[in-house]
Amino acid sequence: MAIDPTHTTRVSSSAQITILGSTGSIGQSTLEVIALHAQYQVFALTANSRVDIMLEQCLRFSPRYAVMVDESAAQSLNDKLRKEGSSTEVLSGAQALIDVAVHADADTVMAAIVGSAGLPATLAAVEHSKKVLLANKEALVMAGDLFMQTLANSDAVLLPIDSEHNAVFQCLPPESRFAGGDIRGQGVRRIVLTASGGPFRDSPLSELLAVTPEQACKHPNWSMGRKISVDSATMMNKGLEIIEACYLFGVGAQYVDVLIHPQSIVHSMVEYNDGSMIAQMGSPDMRIPIAYSLAWPQRIESGAQALDLTQQASLQFYEPDLERFPCLRLGMEAAKLGGTAPTCLNAANEVAVESFLQGKSRFTDIPAIIAGVLEQMTCRKADTIDIIRKADTEARALALAISDSL
Ligand code: NAD
Ligand code: MG
Repeated sequence: MAIDPTHTTRVSSSAQITILGSTGSIGQSTLEVIALHAQYQVFALTANSRVDIMLEQCLRFSPRYAVMVDESAAQSLNDKLRKEGSSTEVLSGAQALIDVAVHADADTVMAAIVGSAGLPATLAAVEHSKKVLLANKEALVMAGDLFMQTLANSDAVLLPIDSEHNAVFQCLPPESRFAGGDIRGQGVRRIVLTASGGPFRDSPLSELLAVTPEQACKHPNWSMGRKISVDSATMMNKGLEIIEACYLFGVGAQYVDVLIHPQSIVHSMVEYNDGSMIAQMGSPDMRIPIAYSLAWPQRIESGAQALDLTQQASLQFYEPDLERFPCLRLGMEAAKLGGTAPTCLNAANEVAVESFLQGKSRFTDIPAIIAGVLEQMTCRKADTIDIIRKADTEARALALAISDSL
């Protein structure tokens, strides 16, 4: 895509939206924002297996299509919708995710599936030049080079939903907000991503061994799905976000720093050569970046509470402790290596987190599993889907073997 600094050619007053992962935390927040604005219509909703929430969403938003990846869930949803007299057509299977993401009548795709399962449909939406709102960071982390190459060869517009990247996007000069925009040439010294530090920011290190999934999923500031909640607790989330920032804004990992900011009010910052630092602030509410991206470059009501700085006793910032958060260090290393290193990091992390959530591994096993995988795998260039799939599959198998051996 040729860089159009303002992208005004893509501004339209209405939109037909496909939400990949509508039953999740981001999916539900997206529908809350859409419900406030008549100009946004829901074209398709997709989910893995949660029929109850999907049924409610279909009855409320009347999408043309509803996709349940799980076959029996699709059958059950279809029966219920027919009883209600709904005209929503139910599809099933992973191919249907791609079909509704690339459909000619959908112009905007919210990519909010968790994990690598979101890659095919998200990448297809980019290939088909949709306006893509990217929450599914794992898709970009595992296939960053290919993803950004596909973007460059399409007319797609990619807007980051992750609150930090959305903040950076807002703080960058308009000419350099899109990859290829040369942010260093525009006077940017570095990007500073903020991190809450999660629920174990100050816990004694000796207690981390016995952490349960319930404790790890109790985030102090944000309400999110279970996988990203564990990622926040290990701070792998920030490691993934460093990689995400490198791809999105076309910079090396040496230009992306992380600061712990327990209040989650400053969502990230951009530092310029002249010493200026521009930050974006707001309540910790994902409806803000969602509304920003839906309406961009305009601004619309998000439903989130305005920030009352008089109620904020202090804003603190400090360096992360890499001994406490080995996953952050692993993320930083993979960001520097590039190629298939982020693919392997992401795959190993998905396996390790799932194993922890199922009670098979301890919290402290997560970095051990990922480090084991990264040590044993060779980093390669990652510019074809076959190379990415192969690295992803091998890393998963290795991570499973390591987790079984611990
Ligand atoms: P979630 O677990 O609440 O929801 C995940 C959604 O993905 C659900 O709709 C589920 O049905 C669907 N899904 C899961 N596995 C699937 C599969 N195999 N095939 C098809 N669909 C599948 O997750 P979430 O918290 O909404 O996060 C979604 C994505 O957004 C993640 O990549 C996360 O990192 C990112 N994100 C979330 C937040 C947040 O505040 N929740 C913030 C920033 C980024
Ligand atoms: Mg984030």
